[in-house]
Amino acid sequence: MSNSERFQLHPFDLVLFGGTGDLAMRKLLPAMYYRHNEAQLPDDWRILAVARSEMSSAEFIAAMEEAARRYIQDDEFHEDTWATFIQHVEYFPIDITDQSKYEGLSKALGDWPERVRVFYLSTAPGLFTRICQGVADAGLVTENSRVALEKPLGRDYDSAVAINDQLAEVFNESQIYRIDHYLGKETVQNLMALRFGNSLFEPLWRREHISDVQITIAEQLGVESRAGYYDHTGALRDMVQNHLLQLLVILAMEPPVSIHPDAVRDEKIKVLRSLQPITGRDVLTNTVRGQYREGIVNGQPVKAYLESEGVAERSKNETYVAIKAEINSWRWQGVPFFLRTGKSLAERRTEIVINFRGIPHSIFDTPAAPNRLIIRLQPEEIIKLQIFAKGRGDEMRLSPVNLDLDFDEAFDKRQMIAYERLLMDMIRGNQTLFNHRDEVTAAWQWIDPIIAAWENYEVEPAPYSAGSWGPAAASALVAKESCGWAEEYF
Ligand code: NAP
Repeated sequence: MSNSERFQLHPFDLVLFGGTGDLAMRKLLPAMYYRHNEAQLPDDWRILAVARSEMSSAEFIAAMEEAARRYIQDDEFHEDTWATFIQHVEYFPIDITDQSKYEGLSKALGDWPERVRVFYLSTAPGLFTRICQGVADAGLVTENSRVALEKPLGRDYDSAVAINDQLAEVFNESQIYRIDHYLGKETVQNLMALRFGNSLFEPLWRREHISDVQITIAEQLGVESRAGYYDHTGALRDMVQNHLLQLLVILAMEPPVSIHPDAVRDEKIKVLRSLQPITGRDVLTNTVRGQYREGIVNGQPVKAYLESEGVAERSKNETYVAIKAEINSWRWQGVPFFLRTGKSLAERRTEIVINFRGIPHSIFDTPAAPNRLIIRLQPEEIIKLQIFAKGRGDEMRLSPVNLDLDFDEAFDKRQMIAYERLLMDMIRGNQTLFNHRDEVTAAWQWIDPIIAAWENYEVEPAPYSAGSWGPAAASALVAKESCGWAEEYF
């Protein structure tokens, strides 16, 4: 298959369940507009948005425009492109739990088996299997259909298996696109390019040269309006099971034999299966649970998690988690992968820091520090390599300097948002950036024992002030095997 064939899009229908929701308005519809604006879409395509709210297509398009003007970059919003974009959009007010209401959608989709059909489930996860059954019963699933699901997929191993089994009754695995939007980010793709497109890093990418790895997803936001959902979920299920483990896997996997989806997914699954289980008393030494108290975030007072509306009285739910993960393999034995995520923290930052081992002997007066590779995904997407150089002056003193990969400077193109790539890949049928069911279940198999042990040992979340970097115990977690969390030395 040539490159142009691989990237070509065939006529398609994108059936967007939850079309009036936050994700659709903020990310998915703007993502489709960007692709249309860049003339990537074929002549023949449609978005069929579905939600319960009673309104006409014209009213839906007006709501979509209001959101688009807020969420699409000003210099990318062009009236004439918008006018052609909306000609491809239709709205269907349907309660998807009512099978009798599928008729209108069914008529609009028509009998067109060769046309690509993507069912995007941008609704609450509780509706996923109902929608799949609904589209199957309405006879809408064709050979060229695919289904895309947002996280979370289940809340433990058993529920994830049950959902996957129900999906499998309607769709083949090759038709199921389980989304982790972190994988659509440019920097994550560049992490693969860095590792597998350069000879420089591969010899160093192993236990002999890397002392430890840190992966942080820090949020400044608290639970806000999601308290009801979050209080039954917690940071471990909400962020570690999916985003943090996906980043770990991309970092740690062996070079795949090709970029073919199966080849990449096989390597990812191997990493998940070689994670050292954290069971029993190990949770006391390898994990830290936290919950935020009141504090100041970004100059604004924030009330304690326990005082947020929708949070149960004396809730023990964690809003912060830090974990020391280990991978049992020749490449990674003995290298700690420190994972952490939390709400109401000092900064919004998603970042991977790879600490290389220090030099064996320093001939300079300056204390030796390790080289670091820093891959930041949020708030900006950058990759920098920290090395040491002699500072200006007559003294032989070493100072850290960064070799920055500035993508804005190197590439004269707007940086795509993750959903643009993911949507295009779904439409063209490329599953590389989507999770196989075995990945989801392997991730839960590692997460479940941690939750069970927390319950067994009644591990209470340690308090931390909103606006800090989390509980003190998290610093102790890294102290023995690392020079501290990234914010302590940057
Ligand atoms: P949301 O704002 O609550 O939107 C839910 C959508 O589902 C609305 O359009 C709602 O419209 C529709 N809906 C609900 N019940 C329905 C029914 N019976 N029949 C037809 N439509 C129905 O949720 P969201 O934030 O967009 O999230 C959507 C999914 O993406 C969730 O699985 C979430 O976990 C995931 N996700 C969201 C984000 C984000 O940034 N928002 C990020 C990552 C993952 P009506 O009320 O008009 O029916």
